[in-house]
Amino acid sequence: MILSKLGGLGMLMAASALLSAPQTTTQTAPAQKGRRGNPKETEVWEPVPKVVTPGADNSAPPSDAIVLFDGKNLDEWVQTKDKSPAEWIVRDGVLVVNKARGVGNIETKRRFRNFQLHVEWKFPVDLTGADQDRGNSGVFLASTGGGDAGYELQILDSYNNKTYVNGQAGSIYKQGIPLVNPSRRPGEWQSYDVVWMAPVFESDGTLRTPAYATVFFNGVLVQNHFELSGETLFIGKPFYRKYETAPIKLQAHGDPSQPISFRNIWVRELNPHATLGNGTHNSLENGVHALPHGDVRTRRSPVSGPVNQPGGNGRRESAKIAVAKL
Ligand code: MG
Repeated sequence: MILSKLGGLGMLMAASALLSAPQTTTQTAPAQKGRRGNPKETEVWEPVPKVVTPGADNSAPPSDAIVLFDGKNLDEWVQTKDKSPAEWIVRDGVLVVNKARGVGNIETKRRFRNFQLHVEWKFPVDLTGADQDRGNSGVFLASTGGGDAGYELQILDSYNNKTYVNGQAGSIYKQGIPLVNPSRRPGEWQSYDVVWMAPVFESDGTLRTPAYATVFFNGVLVQNHFELSGETLFIGKPFYRKYETAPIKLQAHGDPSQPISFRNIWVRELNPHATLGNGTHNSLENGVHALPHGDVRTRRSPVSGPVNQPGGNGRRESAKIAVAKL
């Protein structure tokens, strides 16, 4: 009745709204009558997730990771400007930014789409400078061109160093203010663990779905499935440019502060090479399980408190389990 009053345009808008509604259905809780019912109806046995051997600690690459830097060489990297061999410095098992004039950014030879990335860095203990001129570098989660083109996760010494908050450490540069500031002081190793979901474009270059970044900074969540508005620009409002795959890039910033160091850089590809025609991604490879009835859940259940460990002695193990309110 209401639709008929709106006329054809109203019908079209209503239909459009229905079509654009999220496809995931939400199951309402059925009335519980005791514990009757068959628990096997909700068990899923396959496909079985592949076995991945975790690293010895959270810095070490799991068995299915591509190691981009392990302290030995720059075989996985090239100069951004001309794809020639990377000219940054490998010294004492770490990678040091080469801030000499004309060197500039480096990027991976490989191209990526969606991934999990781990990277560690350290500022020299005698770091000088202020604001954006203090340990500035960055991890471009997709390098879409020369120079600083792409999507930058900022690196900066933000331990007692005031700057604009959408440009401090842990920011998606000029777009995403970090939720908190877990910076360590210069001289201490720090880390990013990132989940990058690349933007999806139509064939004509228009945006279908934006990019999303989730970032843990020194193990602390600073970007929670943050939706980007486009590439990270120094000047002006962000916008998207179509790309399919891109290198990961490290920034040699032009400020005069001492160069920073990197170590333990590795990446795990999620749904390599494939975006399904409907814009969704391979359900097993991107860390999301399909469940019956169209429901979805993340592969790991959120930690809500102490739990009993399998094979344990029945006492509640709480030493390394914690939850933070967001
Ligand atoms: Mg930077």
